[in-house]
Amino acid sequence: MLFHTTKKLFTKIAGLHRPVALAALSRGVSTYGRQAQSRLAGKTVLLTGASAGIGAATALELVDAAAGDLRLILAARRTDRLNALADKIAAEYPQAEVITRALDVSDYKTVPEFVPGLPAAWREIDVLINNAGMVFGLERVGEIDPRDMEVMFNTNVLGLIQLTQSVVPGMRARGRGDILNIGSIAGLDPYAGGSVYCATKAAVNSFTHSLRKELIDTRIRVLEVQPGAVETEFSLVRFKGDKEKASKVYEGTEPLTAEDVAEIITFALTRRENTVVAQTLVFPSHQGSATSLYRKS
Ligand code: NAP
Repeated sequence: MLFHTTKKLFTKIAGLHRPVALAALSRGVSTYGRQAQSRLAGKTVLLTGASAGIGAATALELVDAAAGDLRLILAARRTDRLNALADKIAAEYPQAEVITRALDVSDYKTVPEFVPGLPAAWREIDVLINNAGMVFGLERVGEIDPRDMEVMFNTNVLGLIQLTQSVVPGMRARGRGDILNIGSIAGLDPYAGGSVYCATKAAVNSFTHSLRKELIDTRIRVLEVQPGAVETEFSLVRFKGDKEKASKVYEGTEPLTAEDVAEIITFALTRRENTVVAQTLVFPSHQGSATSLYRKS
């Protein structure tokens, strides 16, 4: 409707501007509509951390943007959650192809076995979304449990690197692909009490930049989405299941939802192949840095 009205308006404009204006308008459809759908059509997407939060929301958003014409590999440790998500997708988008697989990215030495272990028809990954990630605690340096340190680095950094290593040669051989890493504001703006988590996300940021430079002679896109505050199970994991502590993190604020971030991820993945959304920092209203959040009292 808006398109037709605008076209009429431009038709009334006399002179040289008219053909240019009409040419621009003739692109017609929204790039988050039919164009997004055709850019995703039939792609095989490997999504880690798909059992909750941003990952689960991204699976739903992507399959919707593709109008079901998508092949999804949903990976995480909690396969019951993955299977429930796969059932939901199958009910809403019967043409979508979905498989679920147990994957513990923190067990980074076994991660290279994951893609070769998929059924043959699923090994050519078009889109890798490295979303699995976590944080433990708010301890200051000097008090950090080395076991927590190890889990954070193994999950957020080493697992991500190993999974990426296992898809890059195939993408190179096919001359295309997307690798989207979920970073964080924590990787750009480190805060007291988050030294290890912030260091892992800074590592994701550096790794992402290096990889993009290494793949500069290819059509492989390397993207990073860096959320600010998002209400998911993230804080529950941080406080090892303590719901009261977790909900205090968001008290008096309006954080992003997992779906908000899923929209940004889907937007980045559905641009024209020459468009690389290299970095995207996403805050809710009332957030100005990792720790400056306006709280209504
Ligand atoms: P979430 O609700 O806790 O979800 C985390 C996901 O990661 C779950 O599906 C979990 O699945 C998976 N995961 C954790 N450890 C894993 C492992 N060892 N192997 C495989 N999967 C694992 O948190 P979220 O907020 O959606 O987090 C998603 C990403 O966003 C993370 O990388 C996080 O660092 C980043 N992020 C979050 C925020 C925020 O405020 N929420 C802000 C910035 C960045 P299983 O437990 O089933 O394995």
